[in-house]
Amino acid sequence: MAHANSVADASSSAPAAARPLLVTGTIGIDTVETPSARADRVLGGSAAYFAAAASRLTPVRLVGVVGDDLPASHRSTLEGLGGVDLRGLETRAGGKTFAWGGKYLLNLNERETLFTELGVVAEAPPRVPEVFADSEFVFLGNTHPAVQAGLLEQVPSRAVAVADTMDLWINVAHDELVHLLSKVDGIVLNDSEAAQLTGVRNAITAGRRILGYGPTFAVVKKGEHGAVLVHRDGVAVVPAFPAEEDMVVDPTGAGDTFAGGFMAHLARTGRSDLDTLQEALAWGTVMASFTIGAFSLDGVARATPADLAERYRRFARHARV
Ligand code: AMP
Repeated sequence: MAHANSVADASSSAPAAARPLLVTGTIGIDTVETPSARADRVLGGSAAYFAAAASRLTPVRLVGVVGDDLPASHRSTLEGLGGVDLRGLETRAGGKTFAWGGKYLLNLNERETLFTELGVVAEAPPRVPEVFADSEFVFLGNTHPAVQAGLLEQVPSRAVAVADTMDLWINVAHDELVHLLSKVDGIVLNDSEAAQLTGVRNAITAGRRILGYGPTFAVVKKGEHGAVLVHRDGVAVVPAFPAEEDMVVDPTGAGDTFAGGFMAHLARTGRSDLDTLQEALAWGTVMASFTIGAFSLDGVARATPADLAERYRRFARHARV
């Protein structure tokens, strides 16, 4: 499928048969402090980051809700990404847009949440518009698992649905999360969340336990140690991108853009076999490596197609994908 920002050549896959990719999640206003800099009220949110990364490889349909206080410049940034269909972005009159504040500690690996203002995200969830109901690849950004399940029901043609989650839902909505796991094909979570959900510290064993709830694969992220994908047909691993200290400006969005690169590679190839999933892990890692180089969506949005393709080639060699 023709797409202005696409990186068409950088995969060993057979001819692309791109399938529609839908993401649901937050579009928010972030305030981020790092030891050396700060960004005030910049565009963020899980779906915004995901879309910025995924749209570099394939068109994306975005479903989310904002208030009418979303700055016009943030809306223009989303429009300017190119390849992101915003017909599922609902603006609620009088509502407040999701806002989040985070502060990184000296090593930039640890983050403290300073505030989370849910605003319209605490109200009724958005609807998947009729024109998006035929989406085949679906990513359910992190929110209450019952809301994720409700959104998923609105996409009956899905071929591959993947959900993100977090420690909060494992604690307060365990049963709903287990129910969601019986409906999705994949789950993305970090190693401490996988341990919390299964009671097992080993990422591969934990991943296997998660498959027992229903999904075909689980991606367990291990921060600076990369990620492992546990699949019914085997296991795939990917190291983290070997980033030098001066490459990291703001890690916010690394997880969401990892998911964006991962899902976009599946959607653009129309496949989800273990080899394609392994390539997708590398694409996710490449997108995250650009995201951490700047605040907000800037790092991944301004990388040129040549930058992306070159880093993928270098990384794939390194990772022996
Ligand atoms: P990441 O660094 O990949 O974990 O993603 C950070 C992004 O997630 C930021 O842009 C936040 O606006 C957004 N975010 C933070 N907390 C939440 C939450 N509870 N639900 C959904 N999105 C969130």
